[in-house]
Amino acid sequence: MKPKIEILEESDFKIRFILKNVSPALANSFRRAMKAEVPTLAVDYVDFYVNSSYLYDEILAHRLGMLPIKTDLEKFNMQNECVCGGEGCPNCQISFRLNVEGPKVVYSEDFISDDPEIVFAIDNIPVLELFEGQQLMLEAVARLGTGREHAKFQPVSVCAYKIIPEIEITEDCTLCKDCIEACPRDVLEAGGDKIAVKDVLNCSLCMECIKVCEQNAIKVNETNNFLFTVEATGALPLRVVMRKALEILRSKAEEMNKIIEEIQ
Ligand code: SF4
Ligand code: SF4
Ligand SMILES: [Zn+2]
Repeated sequence: MKPKIEILEESDFKIRFILKNVSPALANSFRRAMKAEVPTLAVDYVDFYVNSSYLYDEILAHRLGMLPIKTDLEKFNMQNECVCGGEGCPNCQISFRLNVEGPKVVYSEDFISDDPEIVFAIDNIPVLELFEGQQLMLEAVARLGTGREHAKFQPVSVCAYKIIPEIEITEDCTLCKDCIEACPRDVLEAGGDKIAVKDVLNCSLCMECIKVCEQNAIKVNETNNFLFTVEATGALPLRVVMRKALEILRSKAEEMNKIIEEIQ
């Protein structure tokens, strides 16, 4: 059977889907590719011209690095692949400028980007509070990177999966209902003259139902279907993250095939 993705729910910041007919290794590779291989922009260095706030330059630079930036992967090169040879140019980096005086709470929306379409993904993230007489003037420079290098480049904040089991009740079942009571996730129910599976997606594979069944009449089998929950940081739409991760996996597999062919 061919691998397939079935989307269960989707919003701007969260998606739940079932990845069907794949091995655990492929499901995990897909998860890792979404987290660690899909590039996004993040602030990588900051020039401070004035900082009379209560926070050190280093703390502020770290905070700025963690602000997700709306990323257009068509507009930017990875710095190590850029025509500038990694020195930094408009093809591989972008600046965010700020010059504010207190009293004021500085939010992510206060930064002025070189490109009005490449801005911090969420407007109202508080960065720091400036008090009377304090000033902050800086230029923050962002570049593309991957989560493999630093978590600030991850396009997803949550990316997890679990195996969707197949629950089987055999003819030895005496309908004692012990398994229903033992299940902590409300997966099972009494359906007339048999035990029915109410919501298999809720099963955590804890195996409590098996432990309490004296007849050995219930089986929880692993399958090749996986329930994914992925949450976005806002840097990239979730479908772009998924598509890009699959492209990366495919190109890695092709590279591997070439190496194997060369060895043979
Ligand atoms: S515990 Fe076993 S015997 Fe009792 S209802 Fe569940 S499957 Fe049937
Ligand atoms: S494995 Fe755990 S969660 Fe799943 S049906 Fe059995 S008791 Fe419920
Ligand atoms: Zn460049």
